[in-house]
Amino acid sequence: MYHGIRVIGGHLPRRLVEQRIFGLRFSLPNGAKAEFVSDKMIGITVFRNRFDEYLTKRAVDAGSELMEDTPVIHAATSDGTAIVRVKDGSEFHSRFLIGADGVNSVVSRSLGLRPERKDLTKVGLGMESDFYVGEDGVDRATNGNPSVLEIIPARNRISYGWIFPKREHLAIGVAGSGVHMRALRSVFDQFHRDVEERLHMHLPLEKRRTCFLGGDGLGSRNVTDRAILVGDAAGFVDPMMGEGIAYAMKSGVFAAAVIDSAIEEGKYDAASLSEYQILCKKEFSANFRMAAWAGSRGTAFAERILPHVSGYKLASDVMSMVARGEIGYADIPYLILKSLPRQLPGVLMQVVKSKMSVSY
Ligand SMILES: Cc1cc2nc3c(=O)[nH]c(=O)nc-3n(C[C@H](O)[C@H](O)[C@H](O)COP(=O)(O)OP(=O)(O)OC[C@H]3O[C@@H](n4cnc5c(N)ncnc54)[C@H](O)[C@@H]3O)c2cc1C
Repeated sequence: MYHGIRVIGGHLPRRLVEQRIFGLRFSLPNGAKAEFVSDKMIGITVFRNRFDEYLTKRAVDAGSELMEDTPVIHAATSDGTAIVRVKDGSEFHSRFLIGADGVNSVVSRSLGLRPERKDLTKVGLGMESDFYVGEDGVDRATNGNPSVLEIIPARNRISYGWIFPKREHLAIGVAGSGVHMRALRSVFDQFHRDVEERLHMHLPLEKRRTCFLGGDGLGSRNVTDRAILVGDAAGFVDPMMGEGIAYAMKSGVFAAAVIDSAIEEGKYDAASLSEYQILCKKEFSANFRMAAWAGSRGTAFAERILPHVSGYKLASDVMSMVARGEIGYADIPYLILKSLPRQLPGVLMQVVKSKMSVSY
């Protein structure tokens, strides 16, 4: 989503942008549909490997040293230093350690942080693949409009799936709560077949990517003496949509700022670093709470709400502002109440039009 791009300065090189996204289309399990399209860009699709490479290069240009194929196997902190041991047995010592090693974080495990992340009721599971279909194929699959992301239910109703257009590929995947996704591969394979049928296209499968979606980051300890967890390692993922890239980048920015002050003050203990948890809570908690609330109501909730607000400019504006990071989920009720008097004539007109078209 666009708010992720804002974290890194609001601009990405054109070559990285697969599609510019302006809207979302939901197909719901009861057959209803809802569409929200904005005149403002709400996000982009990218290839993660190219995007990650770009971020890595920015870090290196800013002075980081990159060591590839060097998996960390253990981390520890003591009064004097933070230490990581890598696979070949070498050790690296530093004043601070940032655990940015994803949802299966070795750093968090070694330091005894976030022990609950193995609890399948608290994490999601997802599987995704990119399918090469060529530009023509993307055009056909999206009815000539590749700027809209499709969200589609998987057959088990508990997980959801997506078709995200890229330039010559479609990213197709499923995700859901870990407890319901034990048979992840078969849910994905069934979804893949269903999408082929839906699009009347053969989608040759190359490589499935599986991942945990670590949630509940604000409910667990992400800081200890000399160490901070960020991103998926810290569990910062939207519990409804599984979106985590923007939160990973934002938490990285917070960690850097807190460590900067800690170095200035010469304080390395957990209490001094706890400002990080405060910053993350302040920035993410309203969003995560609202997303968890909506997510816990499941697809029945989406079926009750989305089709009724579909097509209204106000609804598309709200979706666009959330995606662009201009407001959080928690601001939605206030924004609707504030905008309603101004938008009421348009809303009434749309209701009348829809009633007239029904009665014809
Ligand atoms: C199927 C699927 C689809 C998703 N789609 C979206 C989406 O559309 N939008 C969105 O915002 N989010 C999406 N997410 C979530 C998103 O991918 C994550 O939230 C995000 O990547 C978190 O970033 P991160 O840097 O914290 O972790 P990661 O991106 O997982 O990066 C962790 C890094 O640490 C490295 N690493 C791991 N272990 C070690 C080790 N022991 N030693 C050294 N290095 C290590 C890894 O190689 C990797 O480079 C999706 C997730 C899944 C599973």
